[in-house]
Amino acid sequence: MCQNPNEHKLNPSHFEGSTEEKQTAQEVDGGFAAYTQGMKFFDPHVHMTSRTTDDYQALADAGVVAIIEPAFWLGQPRTGLASFKDYFASLVGWERFRSSQFGIKHYCTIGLNSREANNEALAEEVMEILPLFLQKEGVVGVGEIGFDDQTAAEEKYYRAQLELAKEMGLPVQVHTPHRDKKKGTERSMAIALEHGLAPHMVVIDHNNEETVKSVLDQGFYAAFTIYPFTKMGNERMVEIVKQYGSERIMVNSAADWGISDPLAIPKTAALMKIKGISDADIQKVTYQNALDSFAQSGQINEKDFIDGLEIDQSLKFNGNTVLRGGQAPRVDKNSIFIR
Ligand SMILES: [Zn+2]
Repeated sequence: MCQNPNEHKLNPSHFEGSTEEKQTAQEVDGGFAAYTQGMKFFDPHVHMTSRTTDDYQALADAGVVAIIEPAFWLGQPRTGLASFKDYFASLVGWERFRSSQFGIKHYCTIGLNSREANNEALAEEVMEILPLFLQKEGVVGVGEIGFDDQTAAEEKYYRAQLELAKEMGLPVQVHTPHRDKKKGTERSMAIALEHGLAPHMVVIDHNNEETVKSVLDQGFYAAFTIYPFTKMGNERMVEIVKQYGSERIMVNSAADWGISDPLAIPKTAALMKIKGISDADIQKVTYQNALDSFAQSGQINEKDFIDGLEIDQSLKFNGNTVLRGGQAPRVDKNSIFIR
């Protein structure tokens, strides 16, 4: 029956594959969920404001139990302080409610993003309202702040916000530039140290192979964004964990209004599992390190989400709900019928 000794290792439903490698490829194409059963994930960087309720449902189905939404720009510059105010208010208000309706615990970081730091007149006004929002419940850090074009104005407001974080005892979520990344990352870390921030209170984001060693050596947390259709896919992430281990490393989706994948974390966990990374290491880089770093804010209690939030889609937020006239909560997202 089985002439090929390798076939003993194969799952019968994948017998068309004559080698284990082929079987793996088929299973990966068949979906990540088979590898992530029972796993729980914490995405410390995802801009849900620009995503749909379908994404929330998919995140919940994939085992994402908690997320952090950093404040950032909207794809076009804001023209006044009121837009910032409403945006910050939505991060601690409506968006948190919307997330709860899918059983996901929602936290946020509040800050003036690097791009809009370049509008100095407006930046000054934003700086004045930041302390008010940073004191709100569920705000777990100052972020995402740092450099984009590495201008003098960006540096000025990065420094001012580091001081704010230090005063308030909050972690910092640092966006590193996509252009001239190595230099921008080194500069971001040097300035944080210059302001007396403890490296363990600073999460350096959007790392790659060029930056990771220095970030870890200096004691910072190193976050990695998995970008689809770019070089930083999750296969590279697997290699990074193989090389550097799981200490102070975390994965995020940074999903926003651009081409991005909110399921980047569960997919990466599945690939890590396939590639032989231990469950303990997977748990650290897809859950625990994000929790540990941002829990330093004193604003995260794991008990609030570890067993799942109670979902009640009949609840309202200022009279508004996620349901539209007569809708019942969606139960099986794979069903062909839309009722
Ligand atoms: Zn972001």
